[in-house]
Amino acid sequence: MSAGGGTGESVGARREVRIELGARSYDVIIGEGVLAEAGARAKALLPRGRAIVVADARAARLHGDALAAGLGAADIEADVIALEPGEARKSFKDLAALCDALLAREIGRDEAILAFGGGVIGDLAGFAAAIVNRGVPFVQVPTTLLAQVDSSVGGKTAVNAKAGKNLIGAFHQPSLVLADVATLATLEDRDFRSGFAEIAKSAVIEGEDFLAWLEAHVDAFFAGDPAARTEAIARAVAFKAGVVARDERESGERALLNLGHTFAHALEAEAGYDADLRHGEAVAVGCALAADYAAETGRAPPALATRVHDLLRAAGLADSPAELAGAPFEAEALLARMRTDKKNKAGRLRLVLPSAAGRCEVVEEDSPERLLAFLKEYAA
Ligand code: NAD
Repeated sequence: MSAGGGTGESVGARREVRIELGARSYDVIIGEGVLAEAGARAKALLPRGRAIVVADARAARLHGDALAAGLGAADIEADVIALEPGEARKSFKDLAALCDALLAREIGRDEAILAFGGGVIGDLAGFAAAIVNRGVPFVQVPTTLLAQVDSSVGGKTAVNAKAGKNLIGAFHQPSLVLADVATLATLEDRDFRSGFAEIAKSAVIEGEDFLAWLEAHVDAFFAGDPAARTEAIARAVAFKAGVVARDERESGERALLNLGHTFAHALEAEAGYDADLRHGEAVAVGCALAADYAAETGRAPPALATRVHDLLRAAGLADSPAELAGAPFEAEALLARMRTDKKNKAGRLRLVLPSAAGRCEVVEEDSPERLLAFLKEYAA
């Protein structure tokens, strides 16, 4: 096993979360050392005794040996297609090249591919799995915090278009998700922290139980305690599992997962997509702004916003736009970006706002002037 991994032994407790989607249900296995069990867990999906692994090259370098050993323990040979890291991989060109590489290996319809890396690889390999041979099974093996708590679960797969991110894709659920928390040890600090933003967001939407637990364990989580990490990821996955099971195709409740995202997208767009700003960093500030705006408009008590700010700061995340790459932001420009958000309906601006932990709703903003005044005070 390579640097950053564990011992290759199965160590630590496992959490297993079932995603209930009828015939397309699957399990998410979370814990330290899960890679060592990859072969045993995925064997039924790999009838040819080989696993075609679509891998982020960095994840493969750091943790590929652990995965290969885990597969080898069940007599499964890894055939790795390593791709250079980066959002640029989510392109038609890379998708076509990947499909060709899979077909060159004469991939069968009964044979799963493994997506080994962060959200980029999961989205790209998942989309390839949705379309190659008109659909093959796939296993998500997420190695970033964002991918473990969010992108590997729920079945959204996509590449980017000129018109915007993730606009070309398919719903294609994985057959299994294997999240080894040991892989997180090698993440860059900022990648790790920005993944936490999605956990914090989930806790605010889920309710008091999760939010209070996270507040009590945020320090252990960042100190590297595997039990705290496993539990936090499992809670975030269980939360997403419930939402996805009730609203797989985002016609209703799944929209609540966009808490903070209207603000975040505006900040990202204004910063410029080549700015050194992580999506999770923008989401963290977006959640803080959503809680602040909810307080400002009398929808939520100020204490909720205080808790959101405190949690983000405890995680070492920025909680105000002024601290982000791309600052300072102009209120008018942010509002103009928010007006073009794809969640808006009939020209009315829509925001996900909390009124309490566990109570978020999509709100139509009927007073853009009020929002502009808020942005001038909080975001400029
Ligand atoms: P990423 O996949 O680009 O990974 C971030 C960086 O971490 C990369 O440089 C990668 O090489 C590196 N890395 C991966 N694993 C590592 C490890 N264990 N140790 C060290 N470095 C490692 O980014 P991400 O944040 O994981 O995902 C972002 C993508 O996810 C975006 O494209 C976004 O659109 C997508 N996404 C999809 C969904 C969904 O539901 N499908 C949800 C959220 C985000």
